[in-house]
Amino acid sequence: MKTENWVNRASKIMPGGVSSPVRSMKSVGGYPIVAIDASGAWLRDADGRKFIDFCMSFGPLILGHSPKQVVDELEKQVHAGTSYGTLSTKEVELAELIVNSHPAVDWVRFVNSGTEAVMSAIRLARGHTGRNLIVKFDGTYHGHADSMLVKGGSGLATLGISSSAGVTEVTANETIVLSLADIDALKNTFEQLGDSIAAVIIEGIPANNGLLLQNREFMHTIQKLCKVYGALFILDEVITGYRVGLGGATDYYNLKPDIVTLGKIIGGGLPVGAYGDRRDLMEEIAPLGPVYQAGTLSGNPLAMVAGIQTLKRLKEDKEIYNRLHETTIEFTTALHSLLEDNGIESTIVNVASLFWPVLQDSHEEIRRPDQVNTHAVEKYGVLHRSSMKQGVYLPPSAYEVSFLSTAHSNEVLTDALSKIERGIQS
Ligand SMILES: *Cc1c(COP(=O)(O)O)cnc(C)c1O
Repeated sequence: MKTENWVNRASKIMPGGVSSPVRSMKSVGGYPIVAIDASGAWLRDADGRKFIDFCMSFGPLILGHSPKQVVDELEKQVHAGTSYGTLSTKEVELAELIVNSHPAVDWVRFVNSGTEAVMSAIRLARGHTGRNLIVKFDGTYHGHADSMLVKGGSGLATLGISSSAGVTEVTANETIVLSLADIDALKNTFEQLGDSIAAVIIEGIPANNGLLLQNREFMHTIQKLCKVYGALFILDEVITGYRVGLGGATDYYNLKPDIVTLGKIIGGGLPVGAYGDRRDLMEEIAPLGPVYQAGTLSGNPLAMVAGIQTLKRLKEDKEIYNRLHETTIEFTTALHSLLEDNGIESTIVNVASLFWPVLQDSHEEIRRPDQVNTHAVEKYGVLHRSSMKQGVYLPPSAYEVSFLSTAHSNEVLTDALSKIERGIQS
């Protein structure tokens, strides 16, 4: 087993043998995939096994693995330089594409990951308001900046507790964690602490602890309370940006966030993040203003080129989002029947080209992660392992959402369904 060899080698010198924890596949009782190449909707491992990929690098690959348009331009760029440490034409081009398509972004700053984008957005919010507190929600993910690795404490809304060793109590106490879909908690928090809140941050559509669709009223209440109390509204569109449409969740819910964070799709599979907002706020960023933020590889030309080609394609093909959504509905409907036919209850939440299979029968909308029962989590582990054996790679946790891309043709998806079924029946 070559996979086993590589995992053993990795485990001797890398924590858990991986560069990001979920890749260990521990939560589904699986074994890490050791990828050697990928194309379209397929991923191949070190043993030459091919998998139909529903994880798609956790979101960036909306055009599939290595789409020709992106690869061709990347090849050219490699010969033209891989990093300049200066302003480059490619940054300007990608910035223009973003500003001209995202309704809430007038000015943009590039960084190297979604984590960095969120970290910088929070600094900007604190710098702008002169306040310390940040409000976030249980069941969202905003990357691994210290202030975001905080979960709700029991009872007192003011005391967040750290969800990682190494995050100080002082930091955790400056993050307030509330329940999703709870308008009263939000109002009470603002009534008590409104004058100290720098910002509220929420994912455009929470998609990191399952796909937790929030209703319009909740999103607009956040926006309104921020406005009333002079806090900033940060919409973390790292997943939803260019995934639910060109205008992201900002358009989907018709919002006007103060700061938007982006990542994943805007890098077309290369490491990128960005944050942006109204021009007057962005003028507070160095070198124009007092909020410092920098990066040796920020605006990296390879990443910019991959982003440019991806966004261009998404803009040029007017039907692309409709087609992706139709495919997602067809596939999830078929998957639901297949599971039912095999005696497995399921609710499959979907939006745009995202879907999330919950292996329980839910009569209510799932808006918070605690609505998923432990039985459903175990069943997902079983489904994951049986699907892997047949060559289908579902995301490696019951709380990770699946992503479809333009490379997931009807043929590929029909194949995936029969493989999943074979797995269940074997
Ligand atoms: C992925 C993600 C991040 C973190 O981005 P990285 O590039 O992994 O640092 C932040 N926020 C959201 C909503 C994400 O989905």
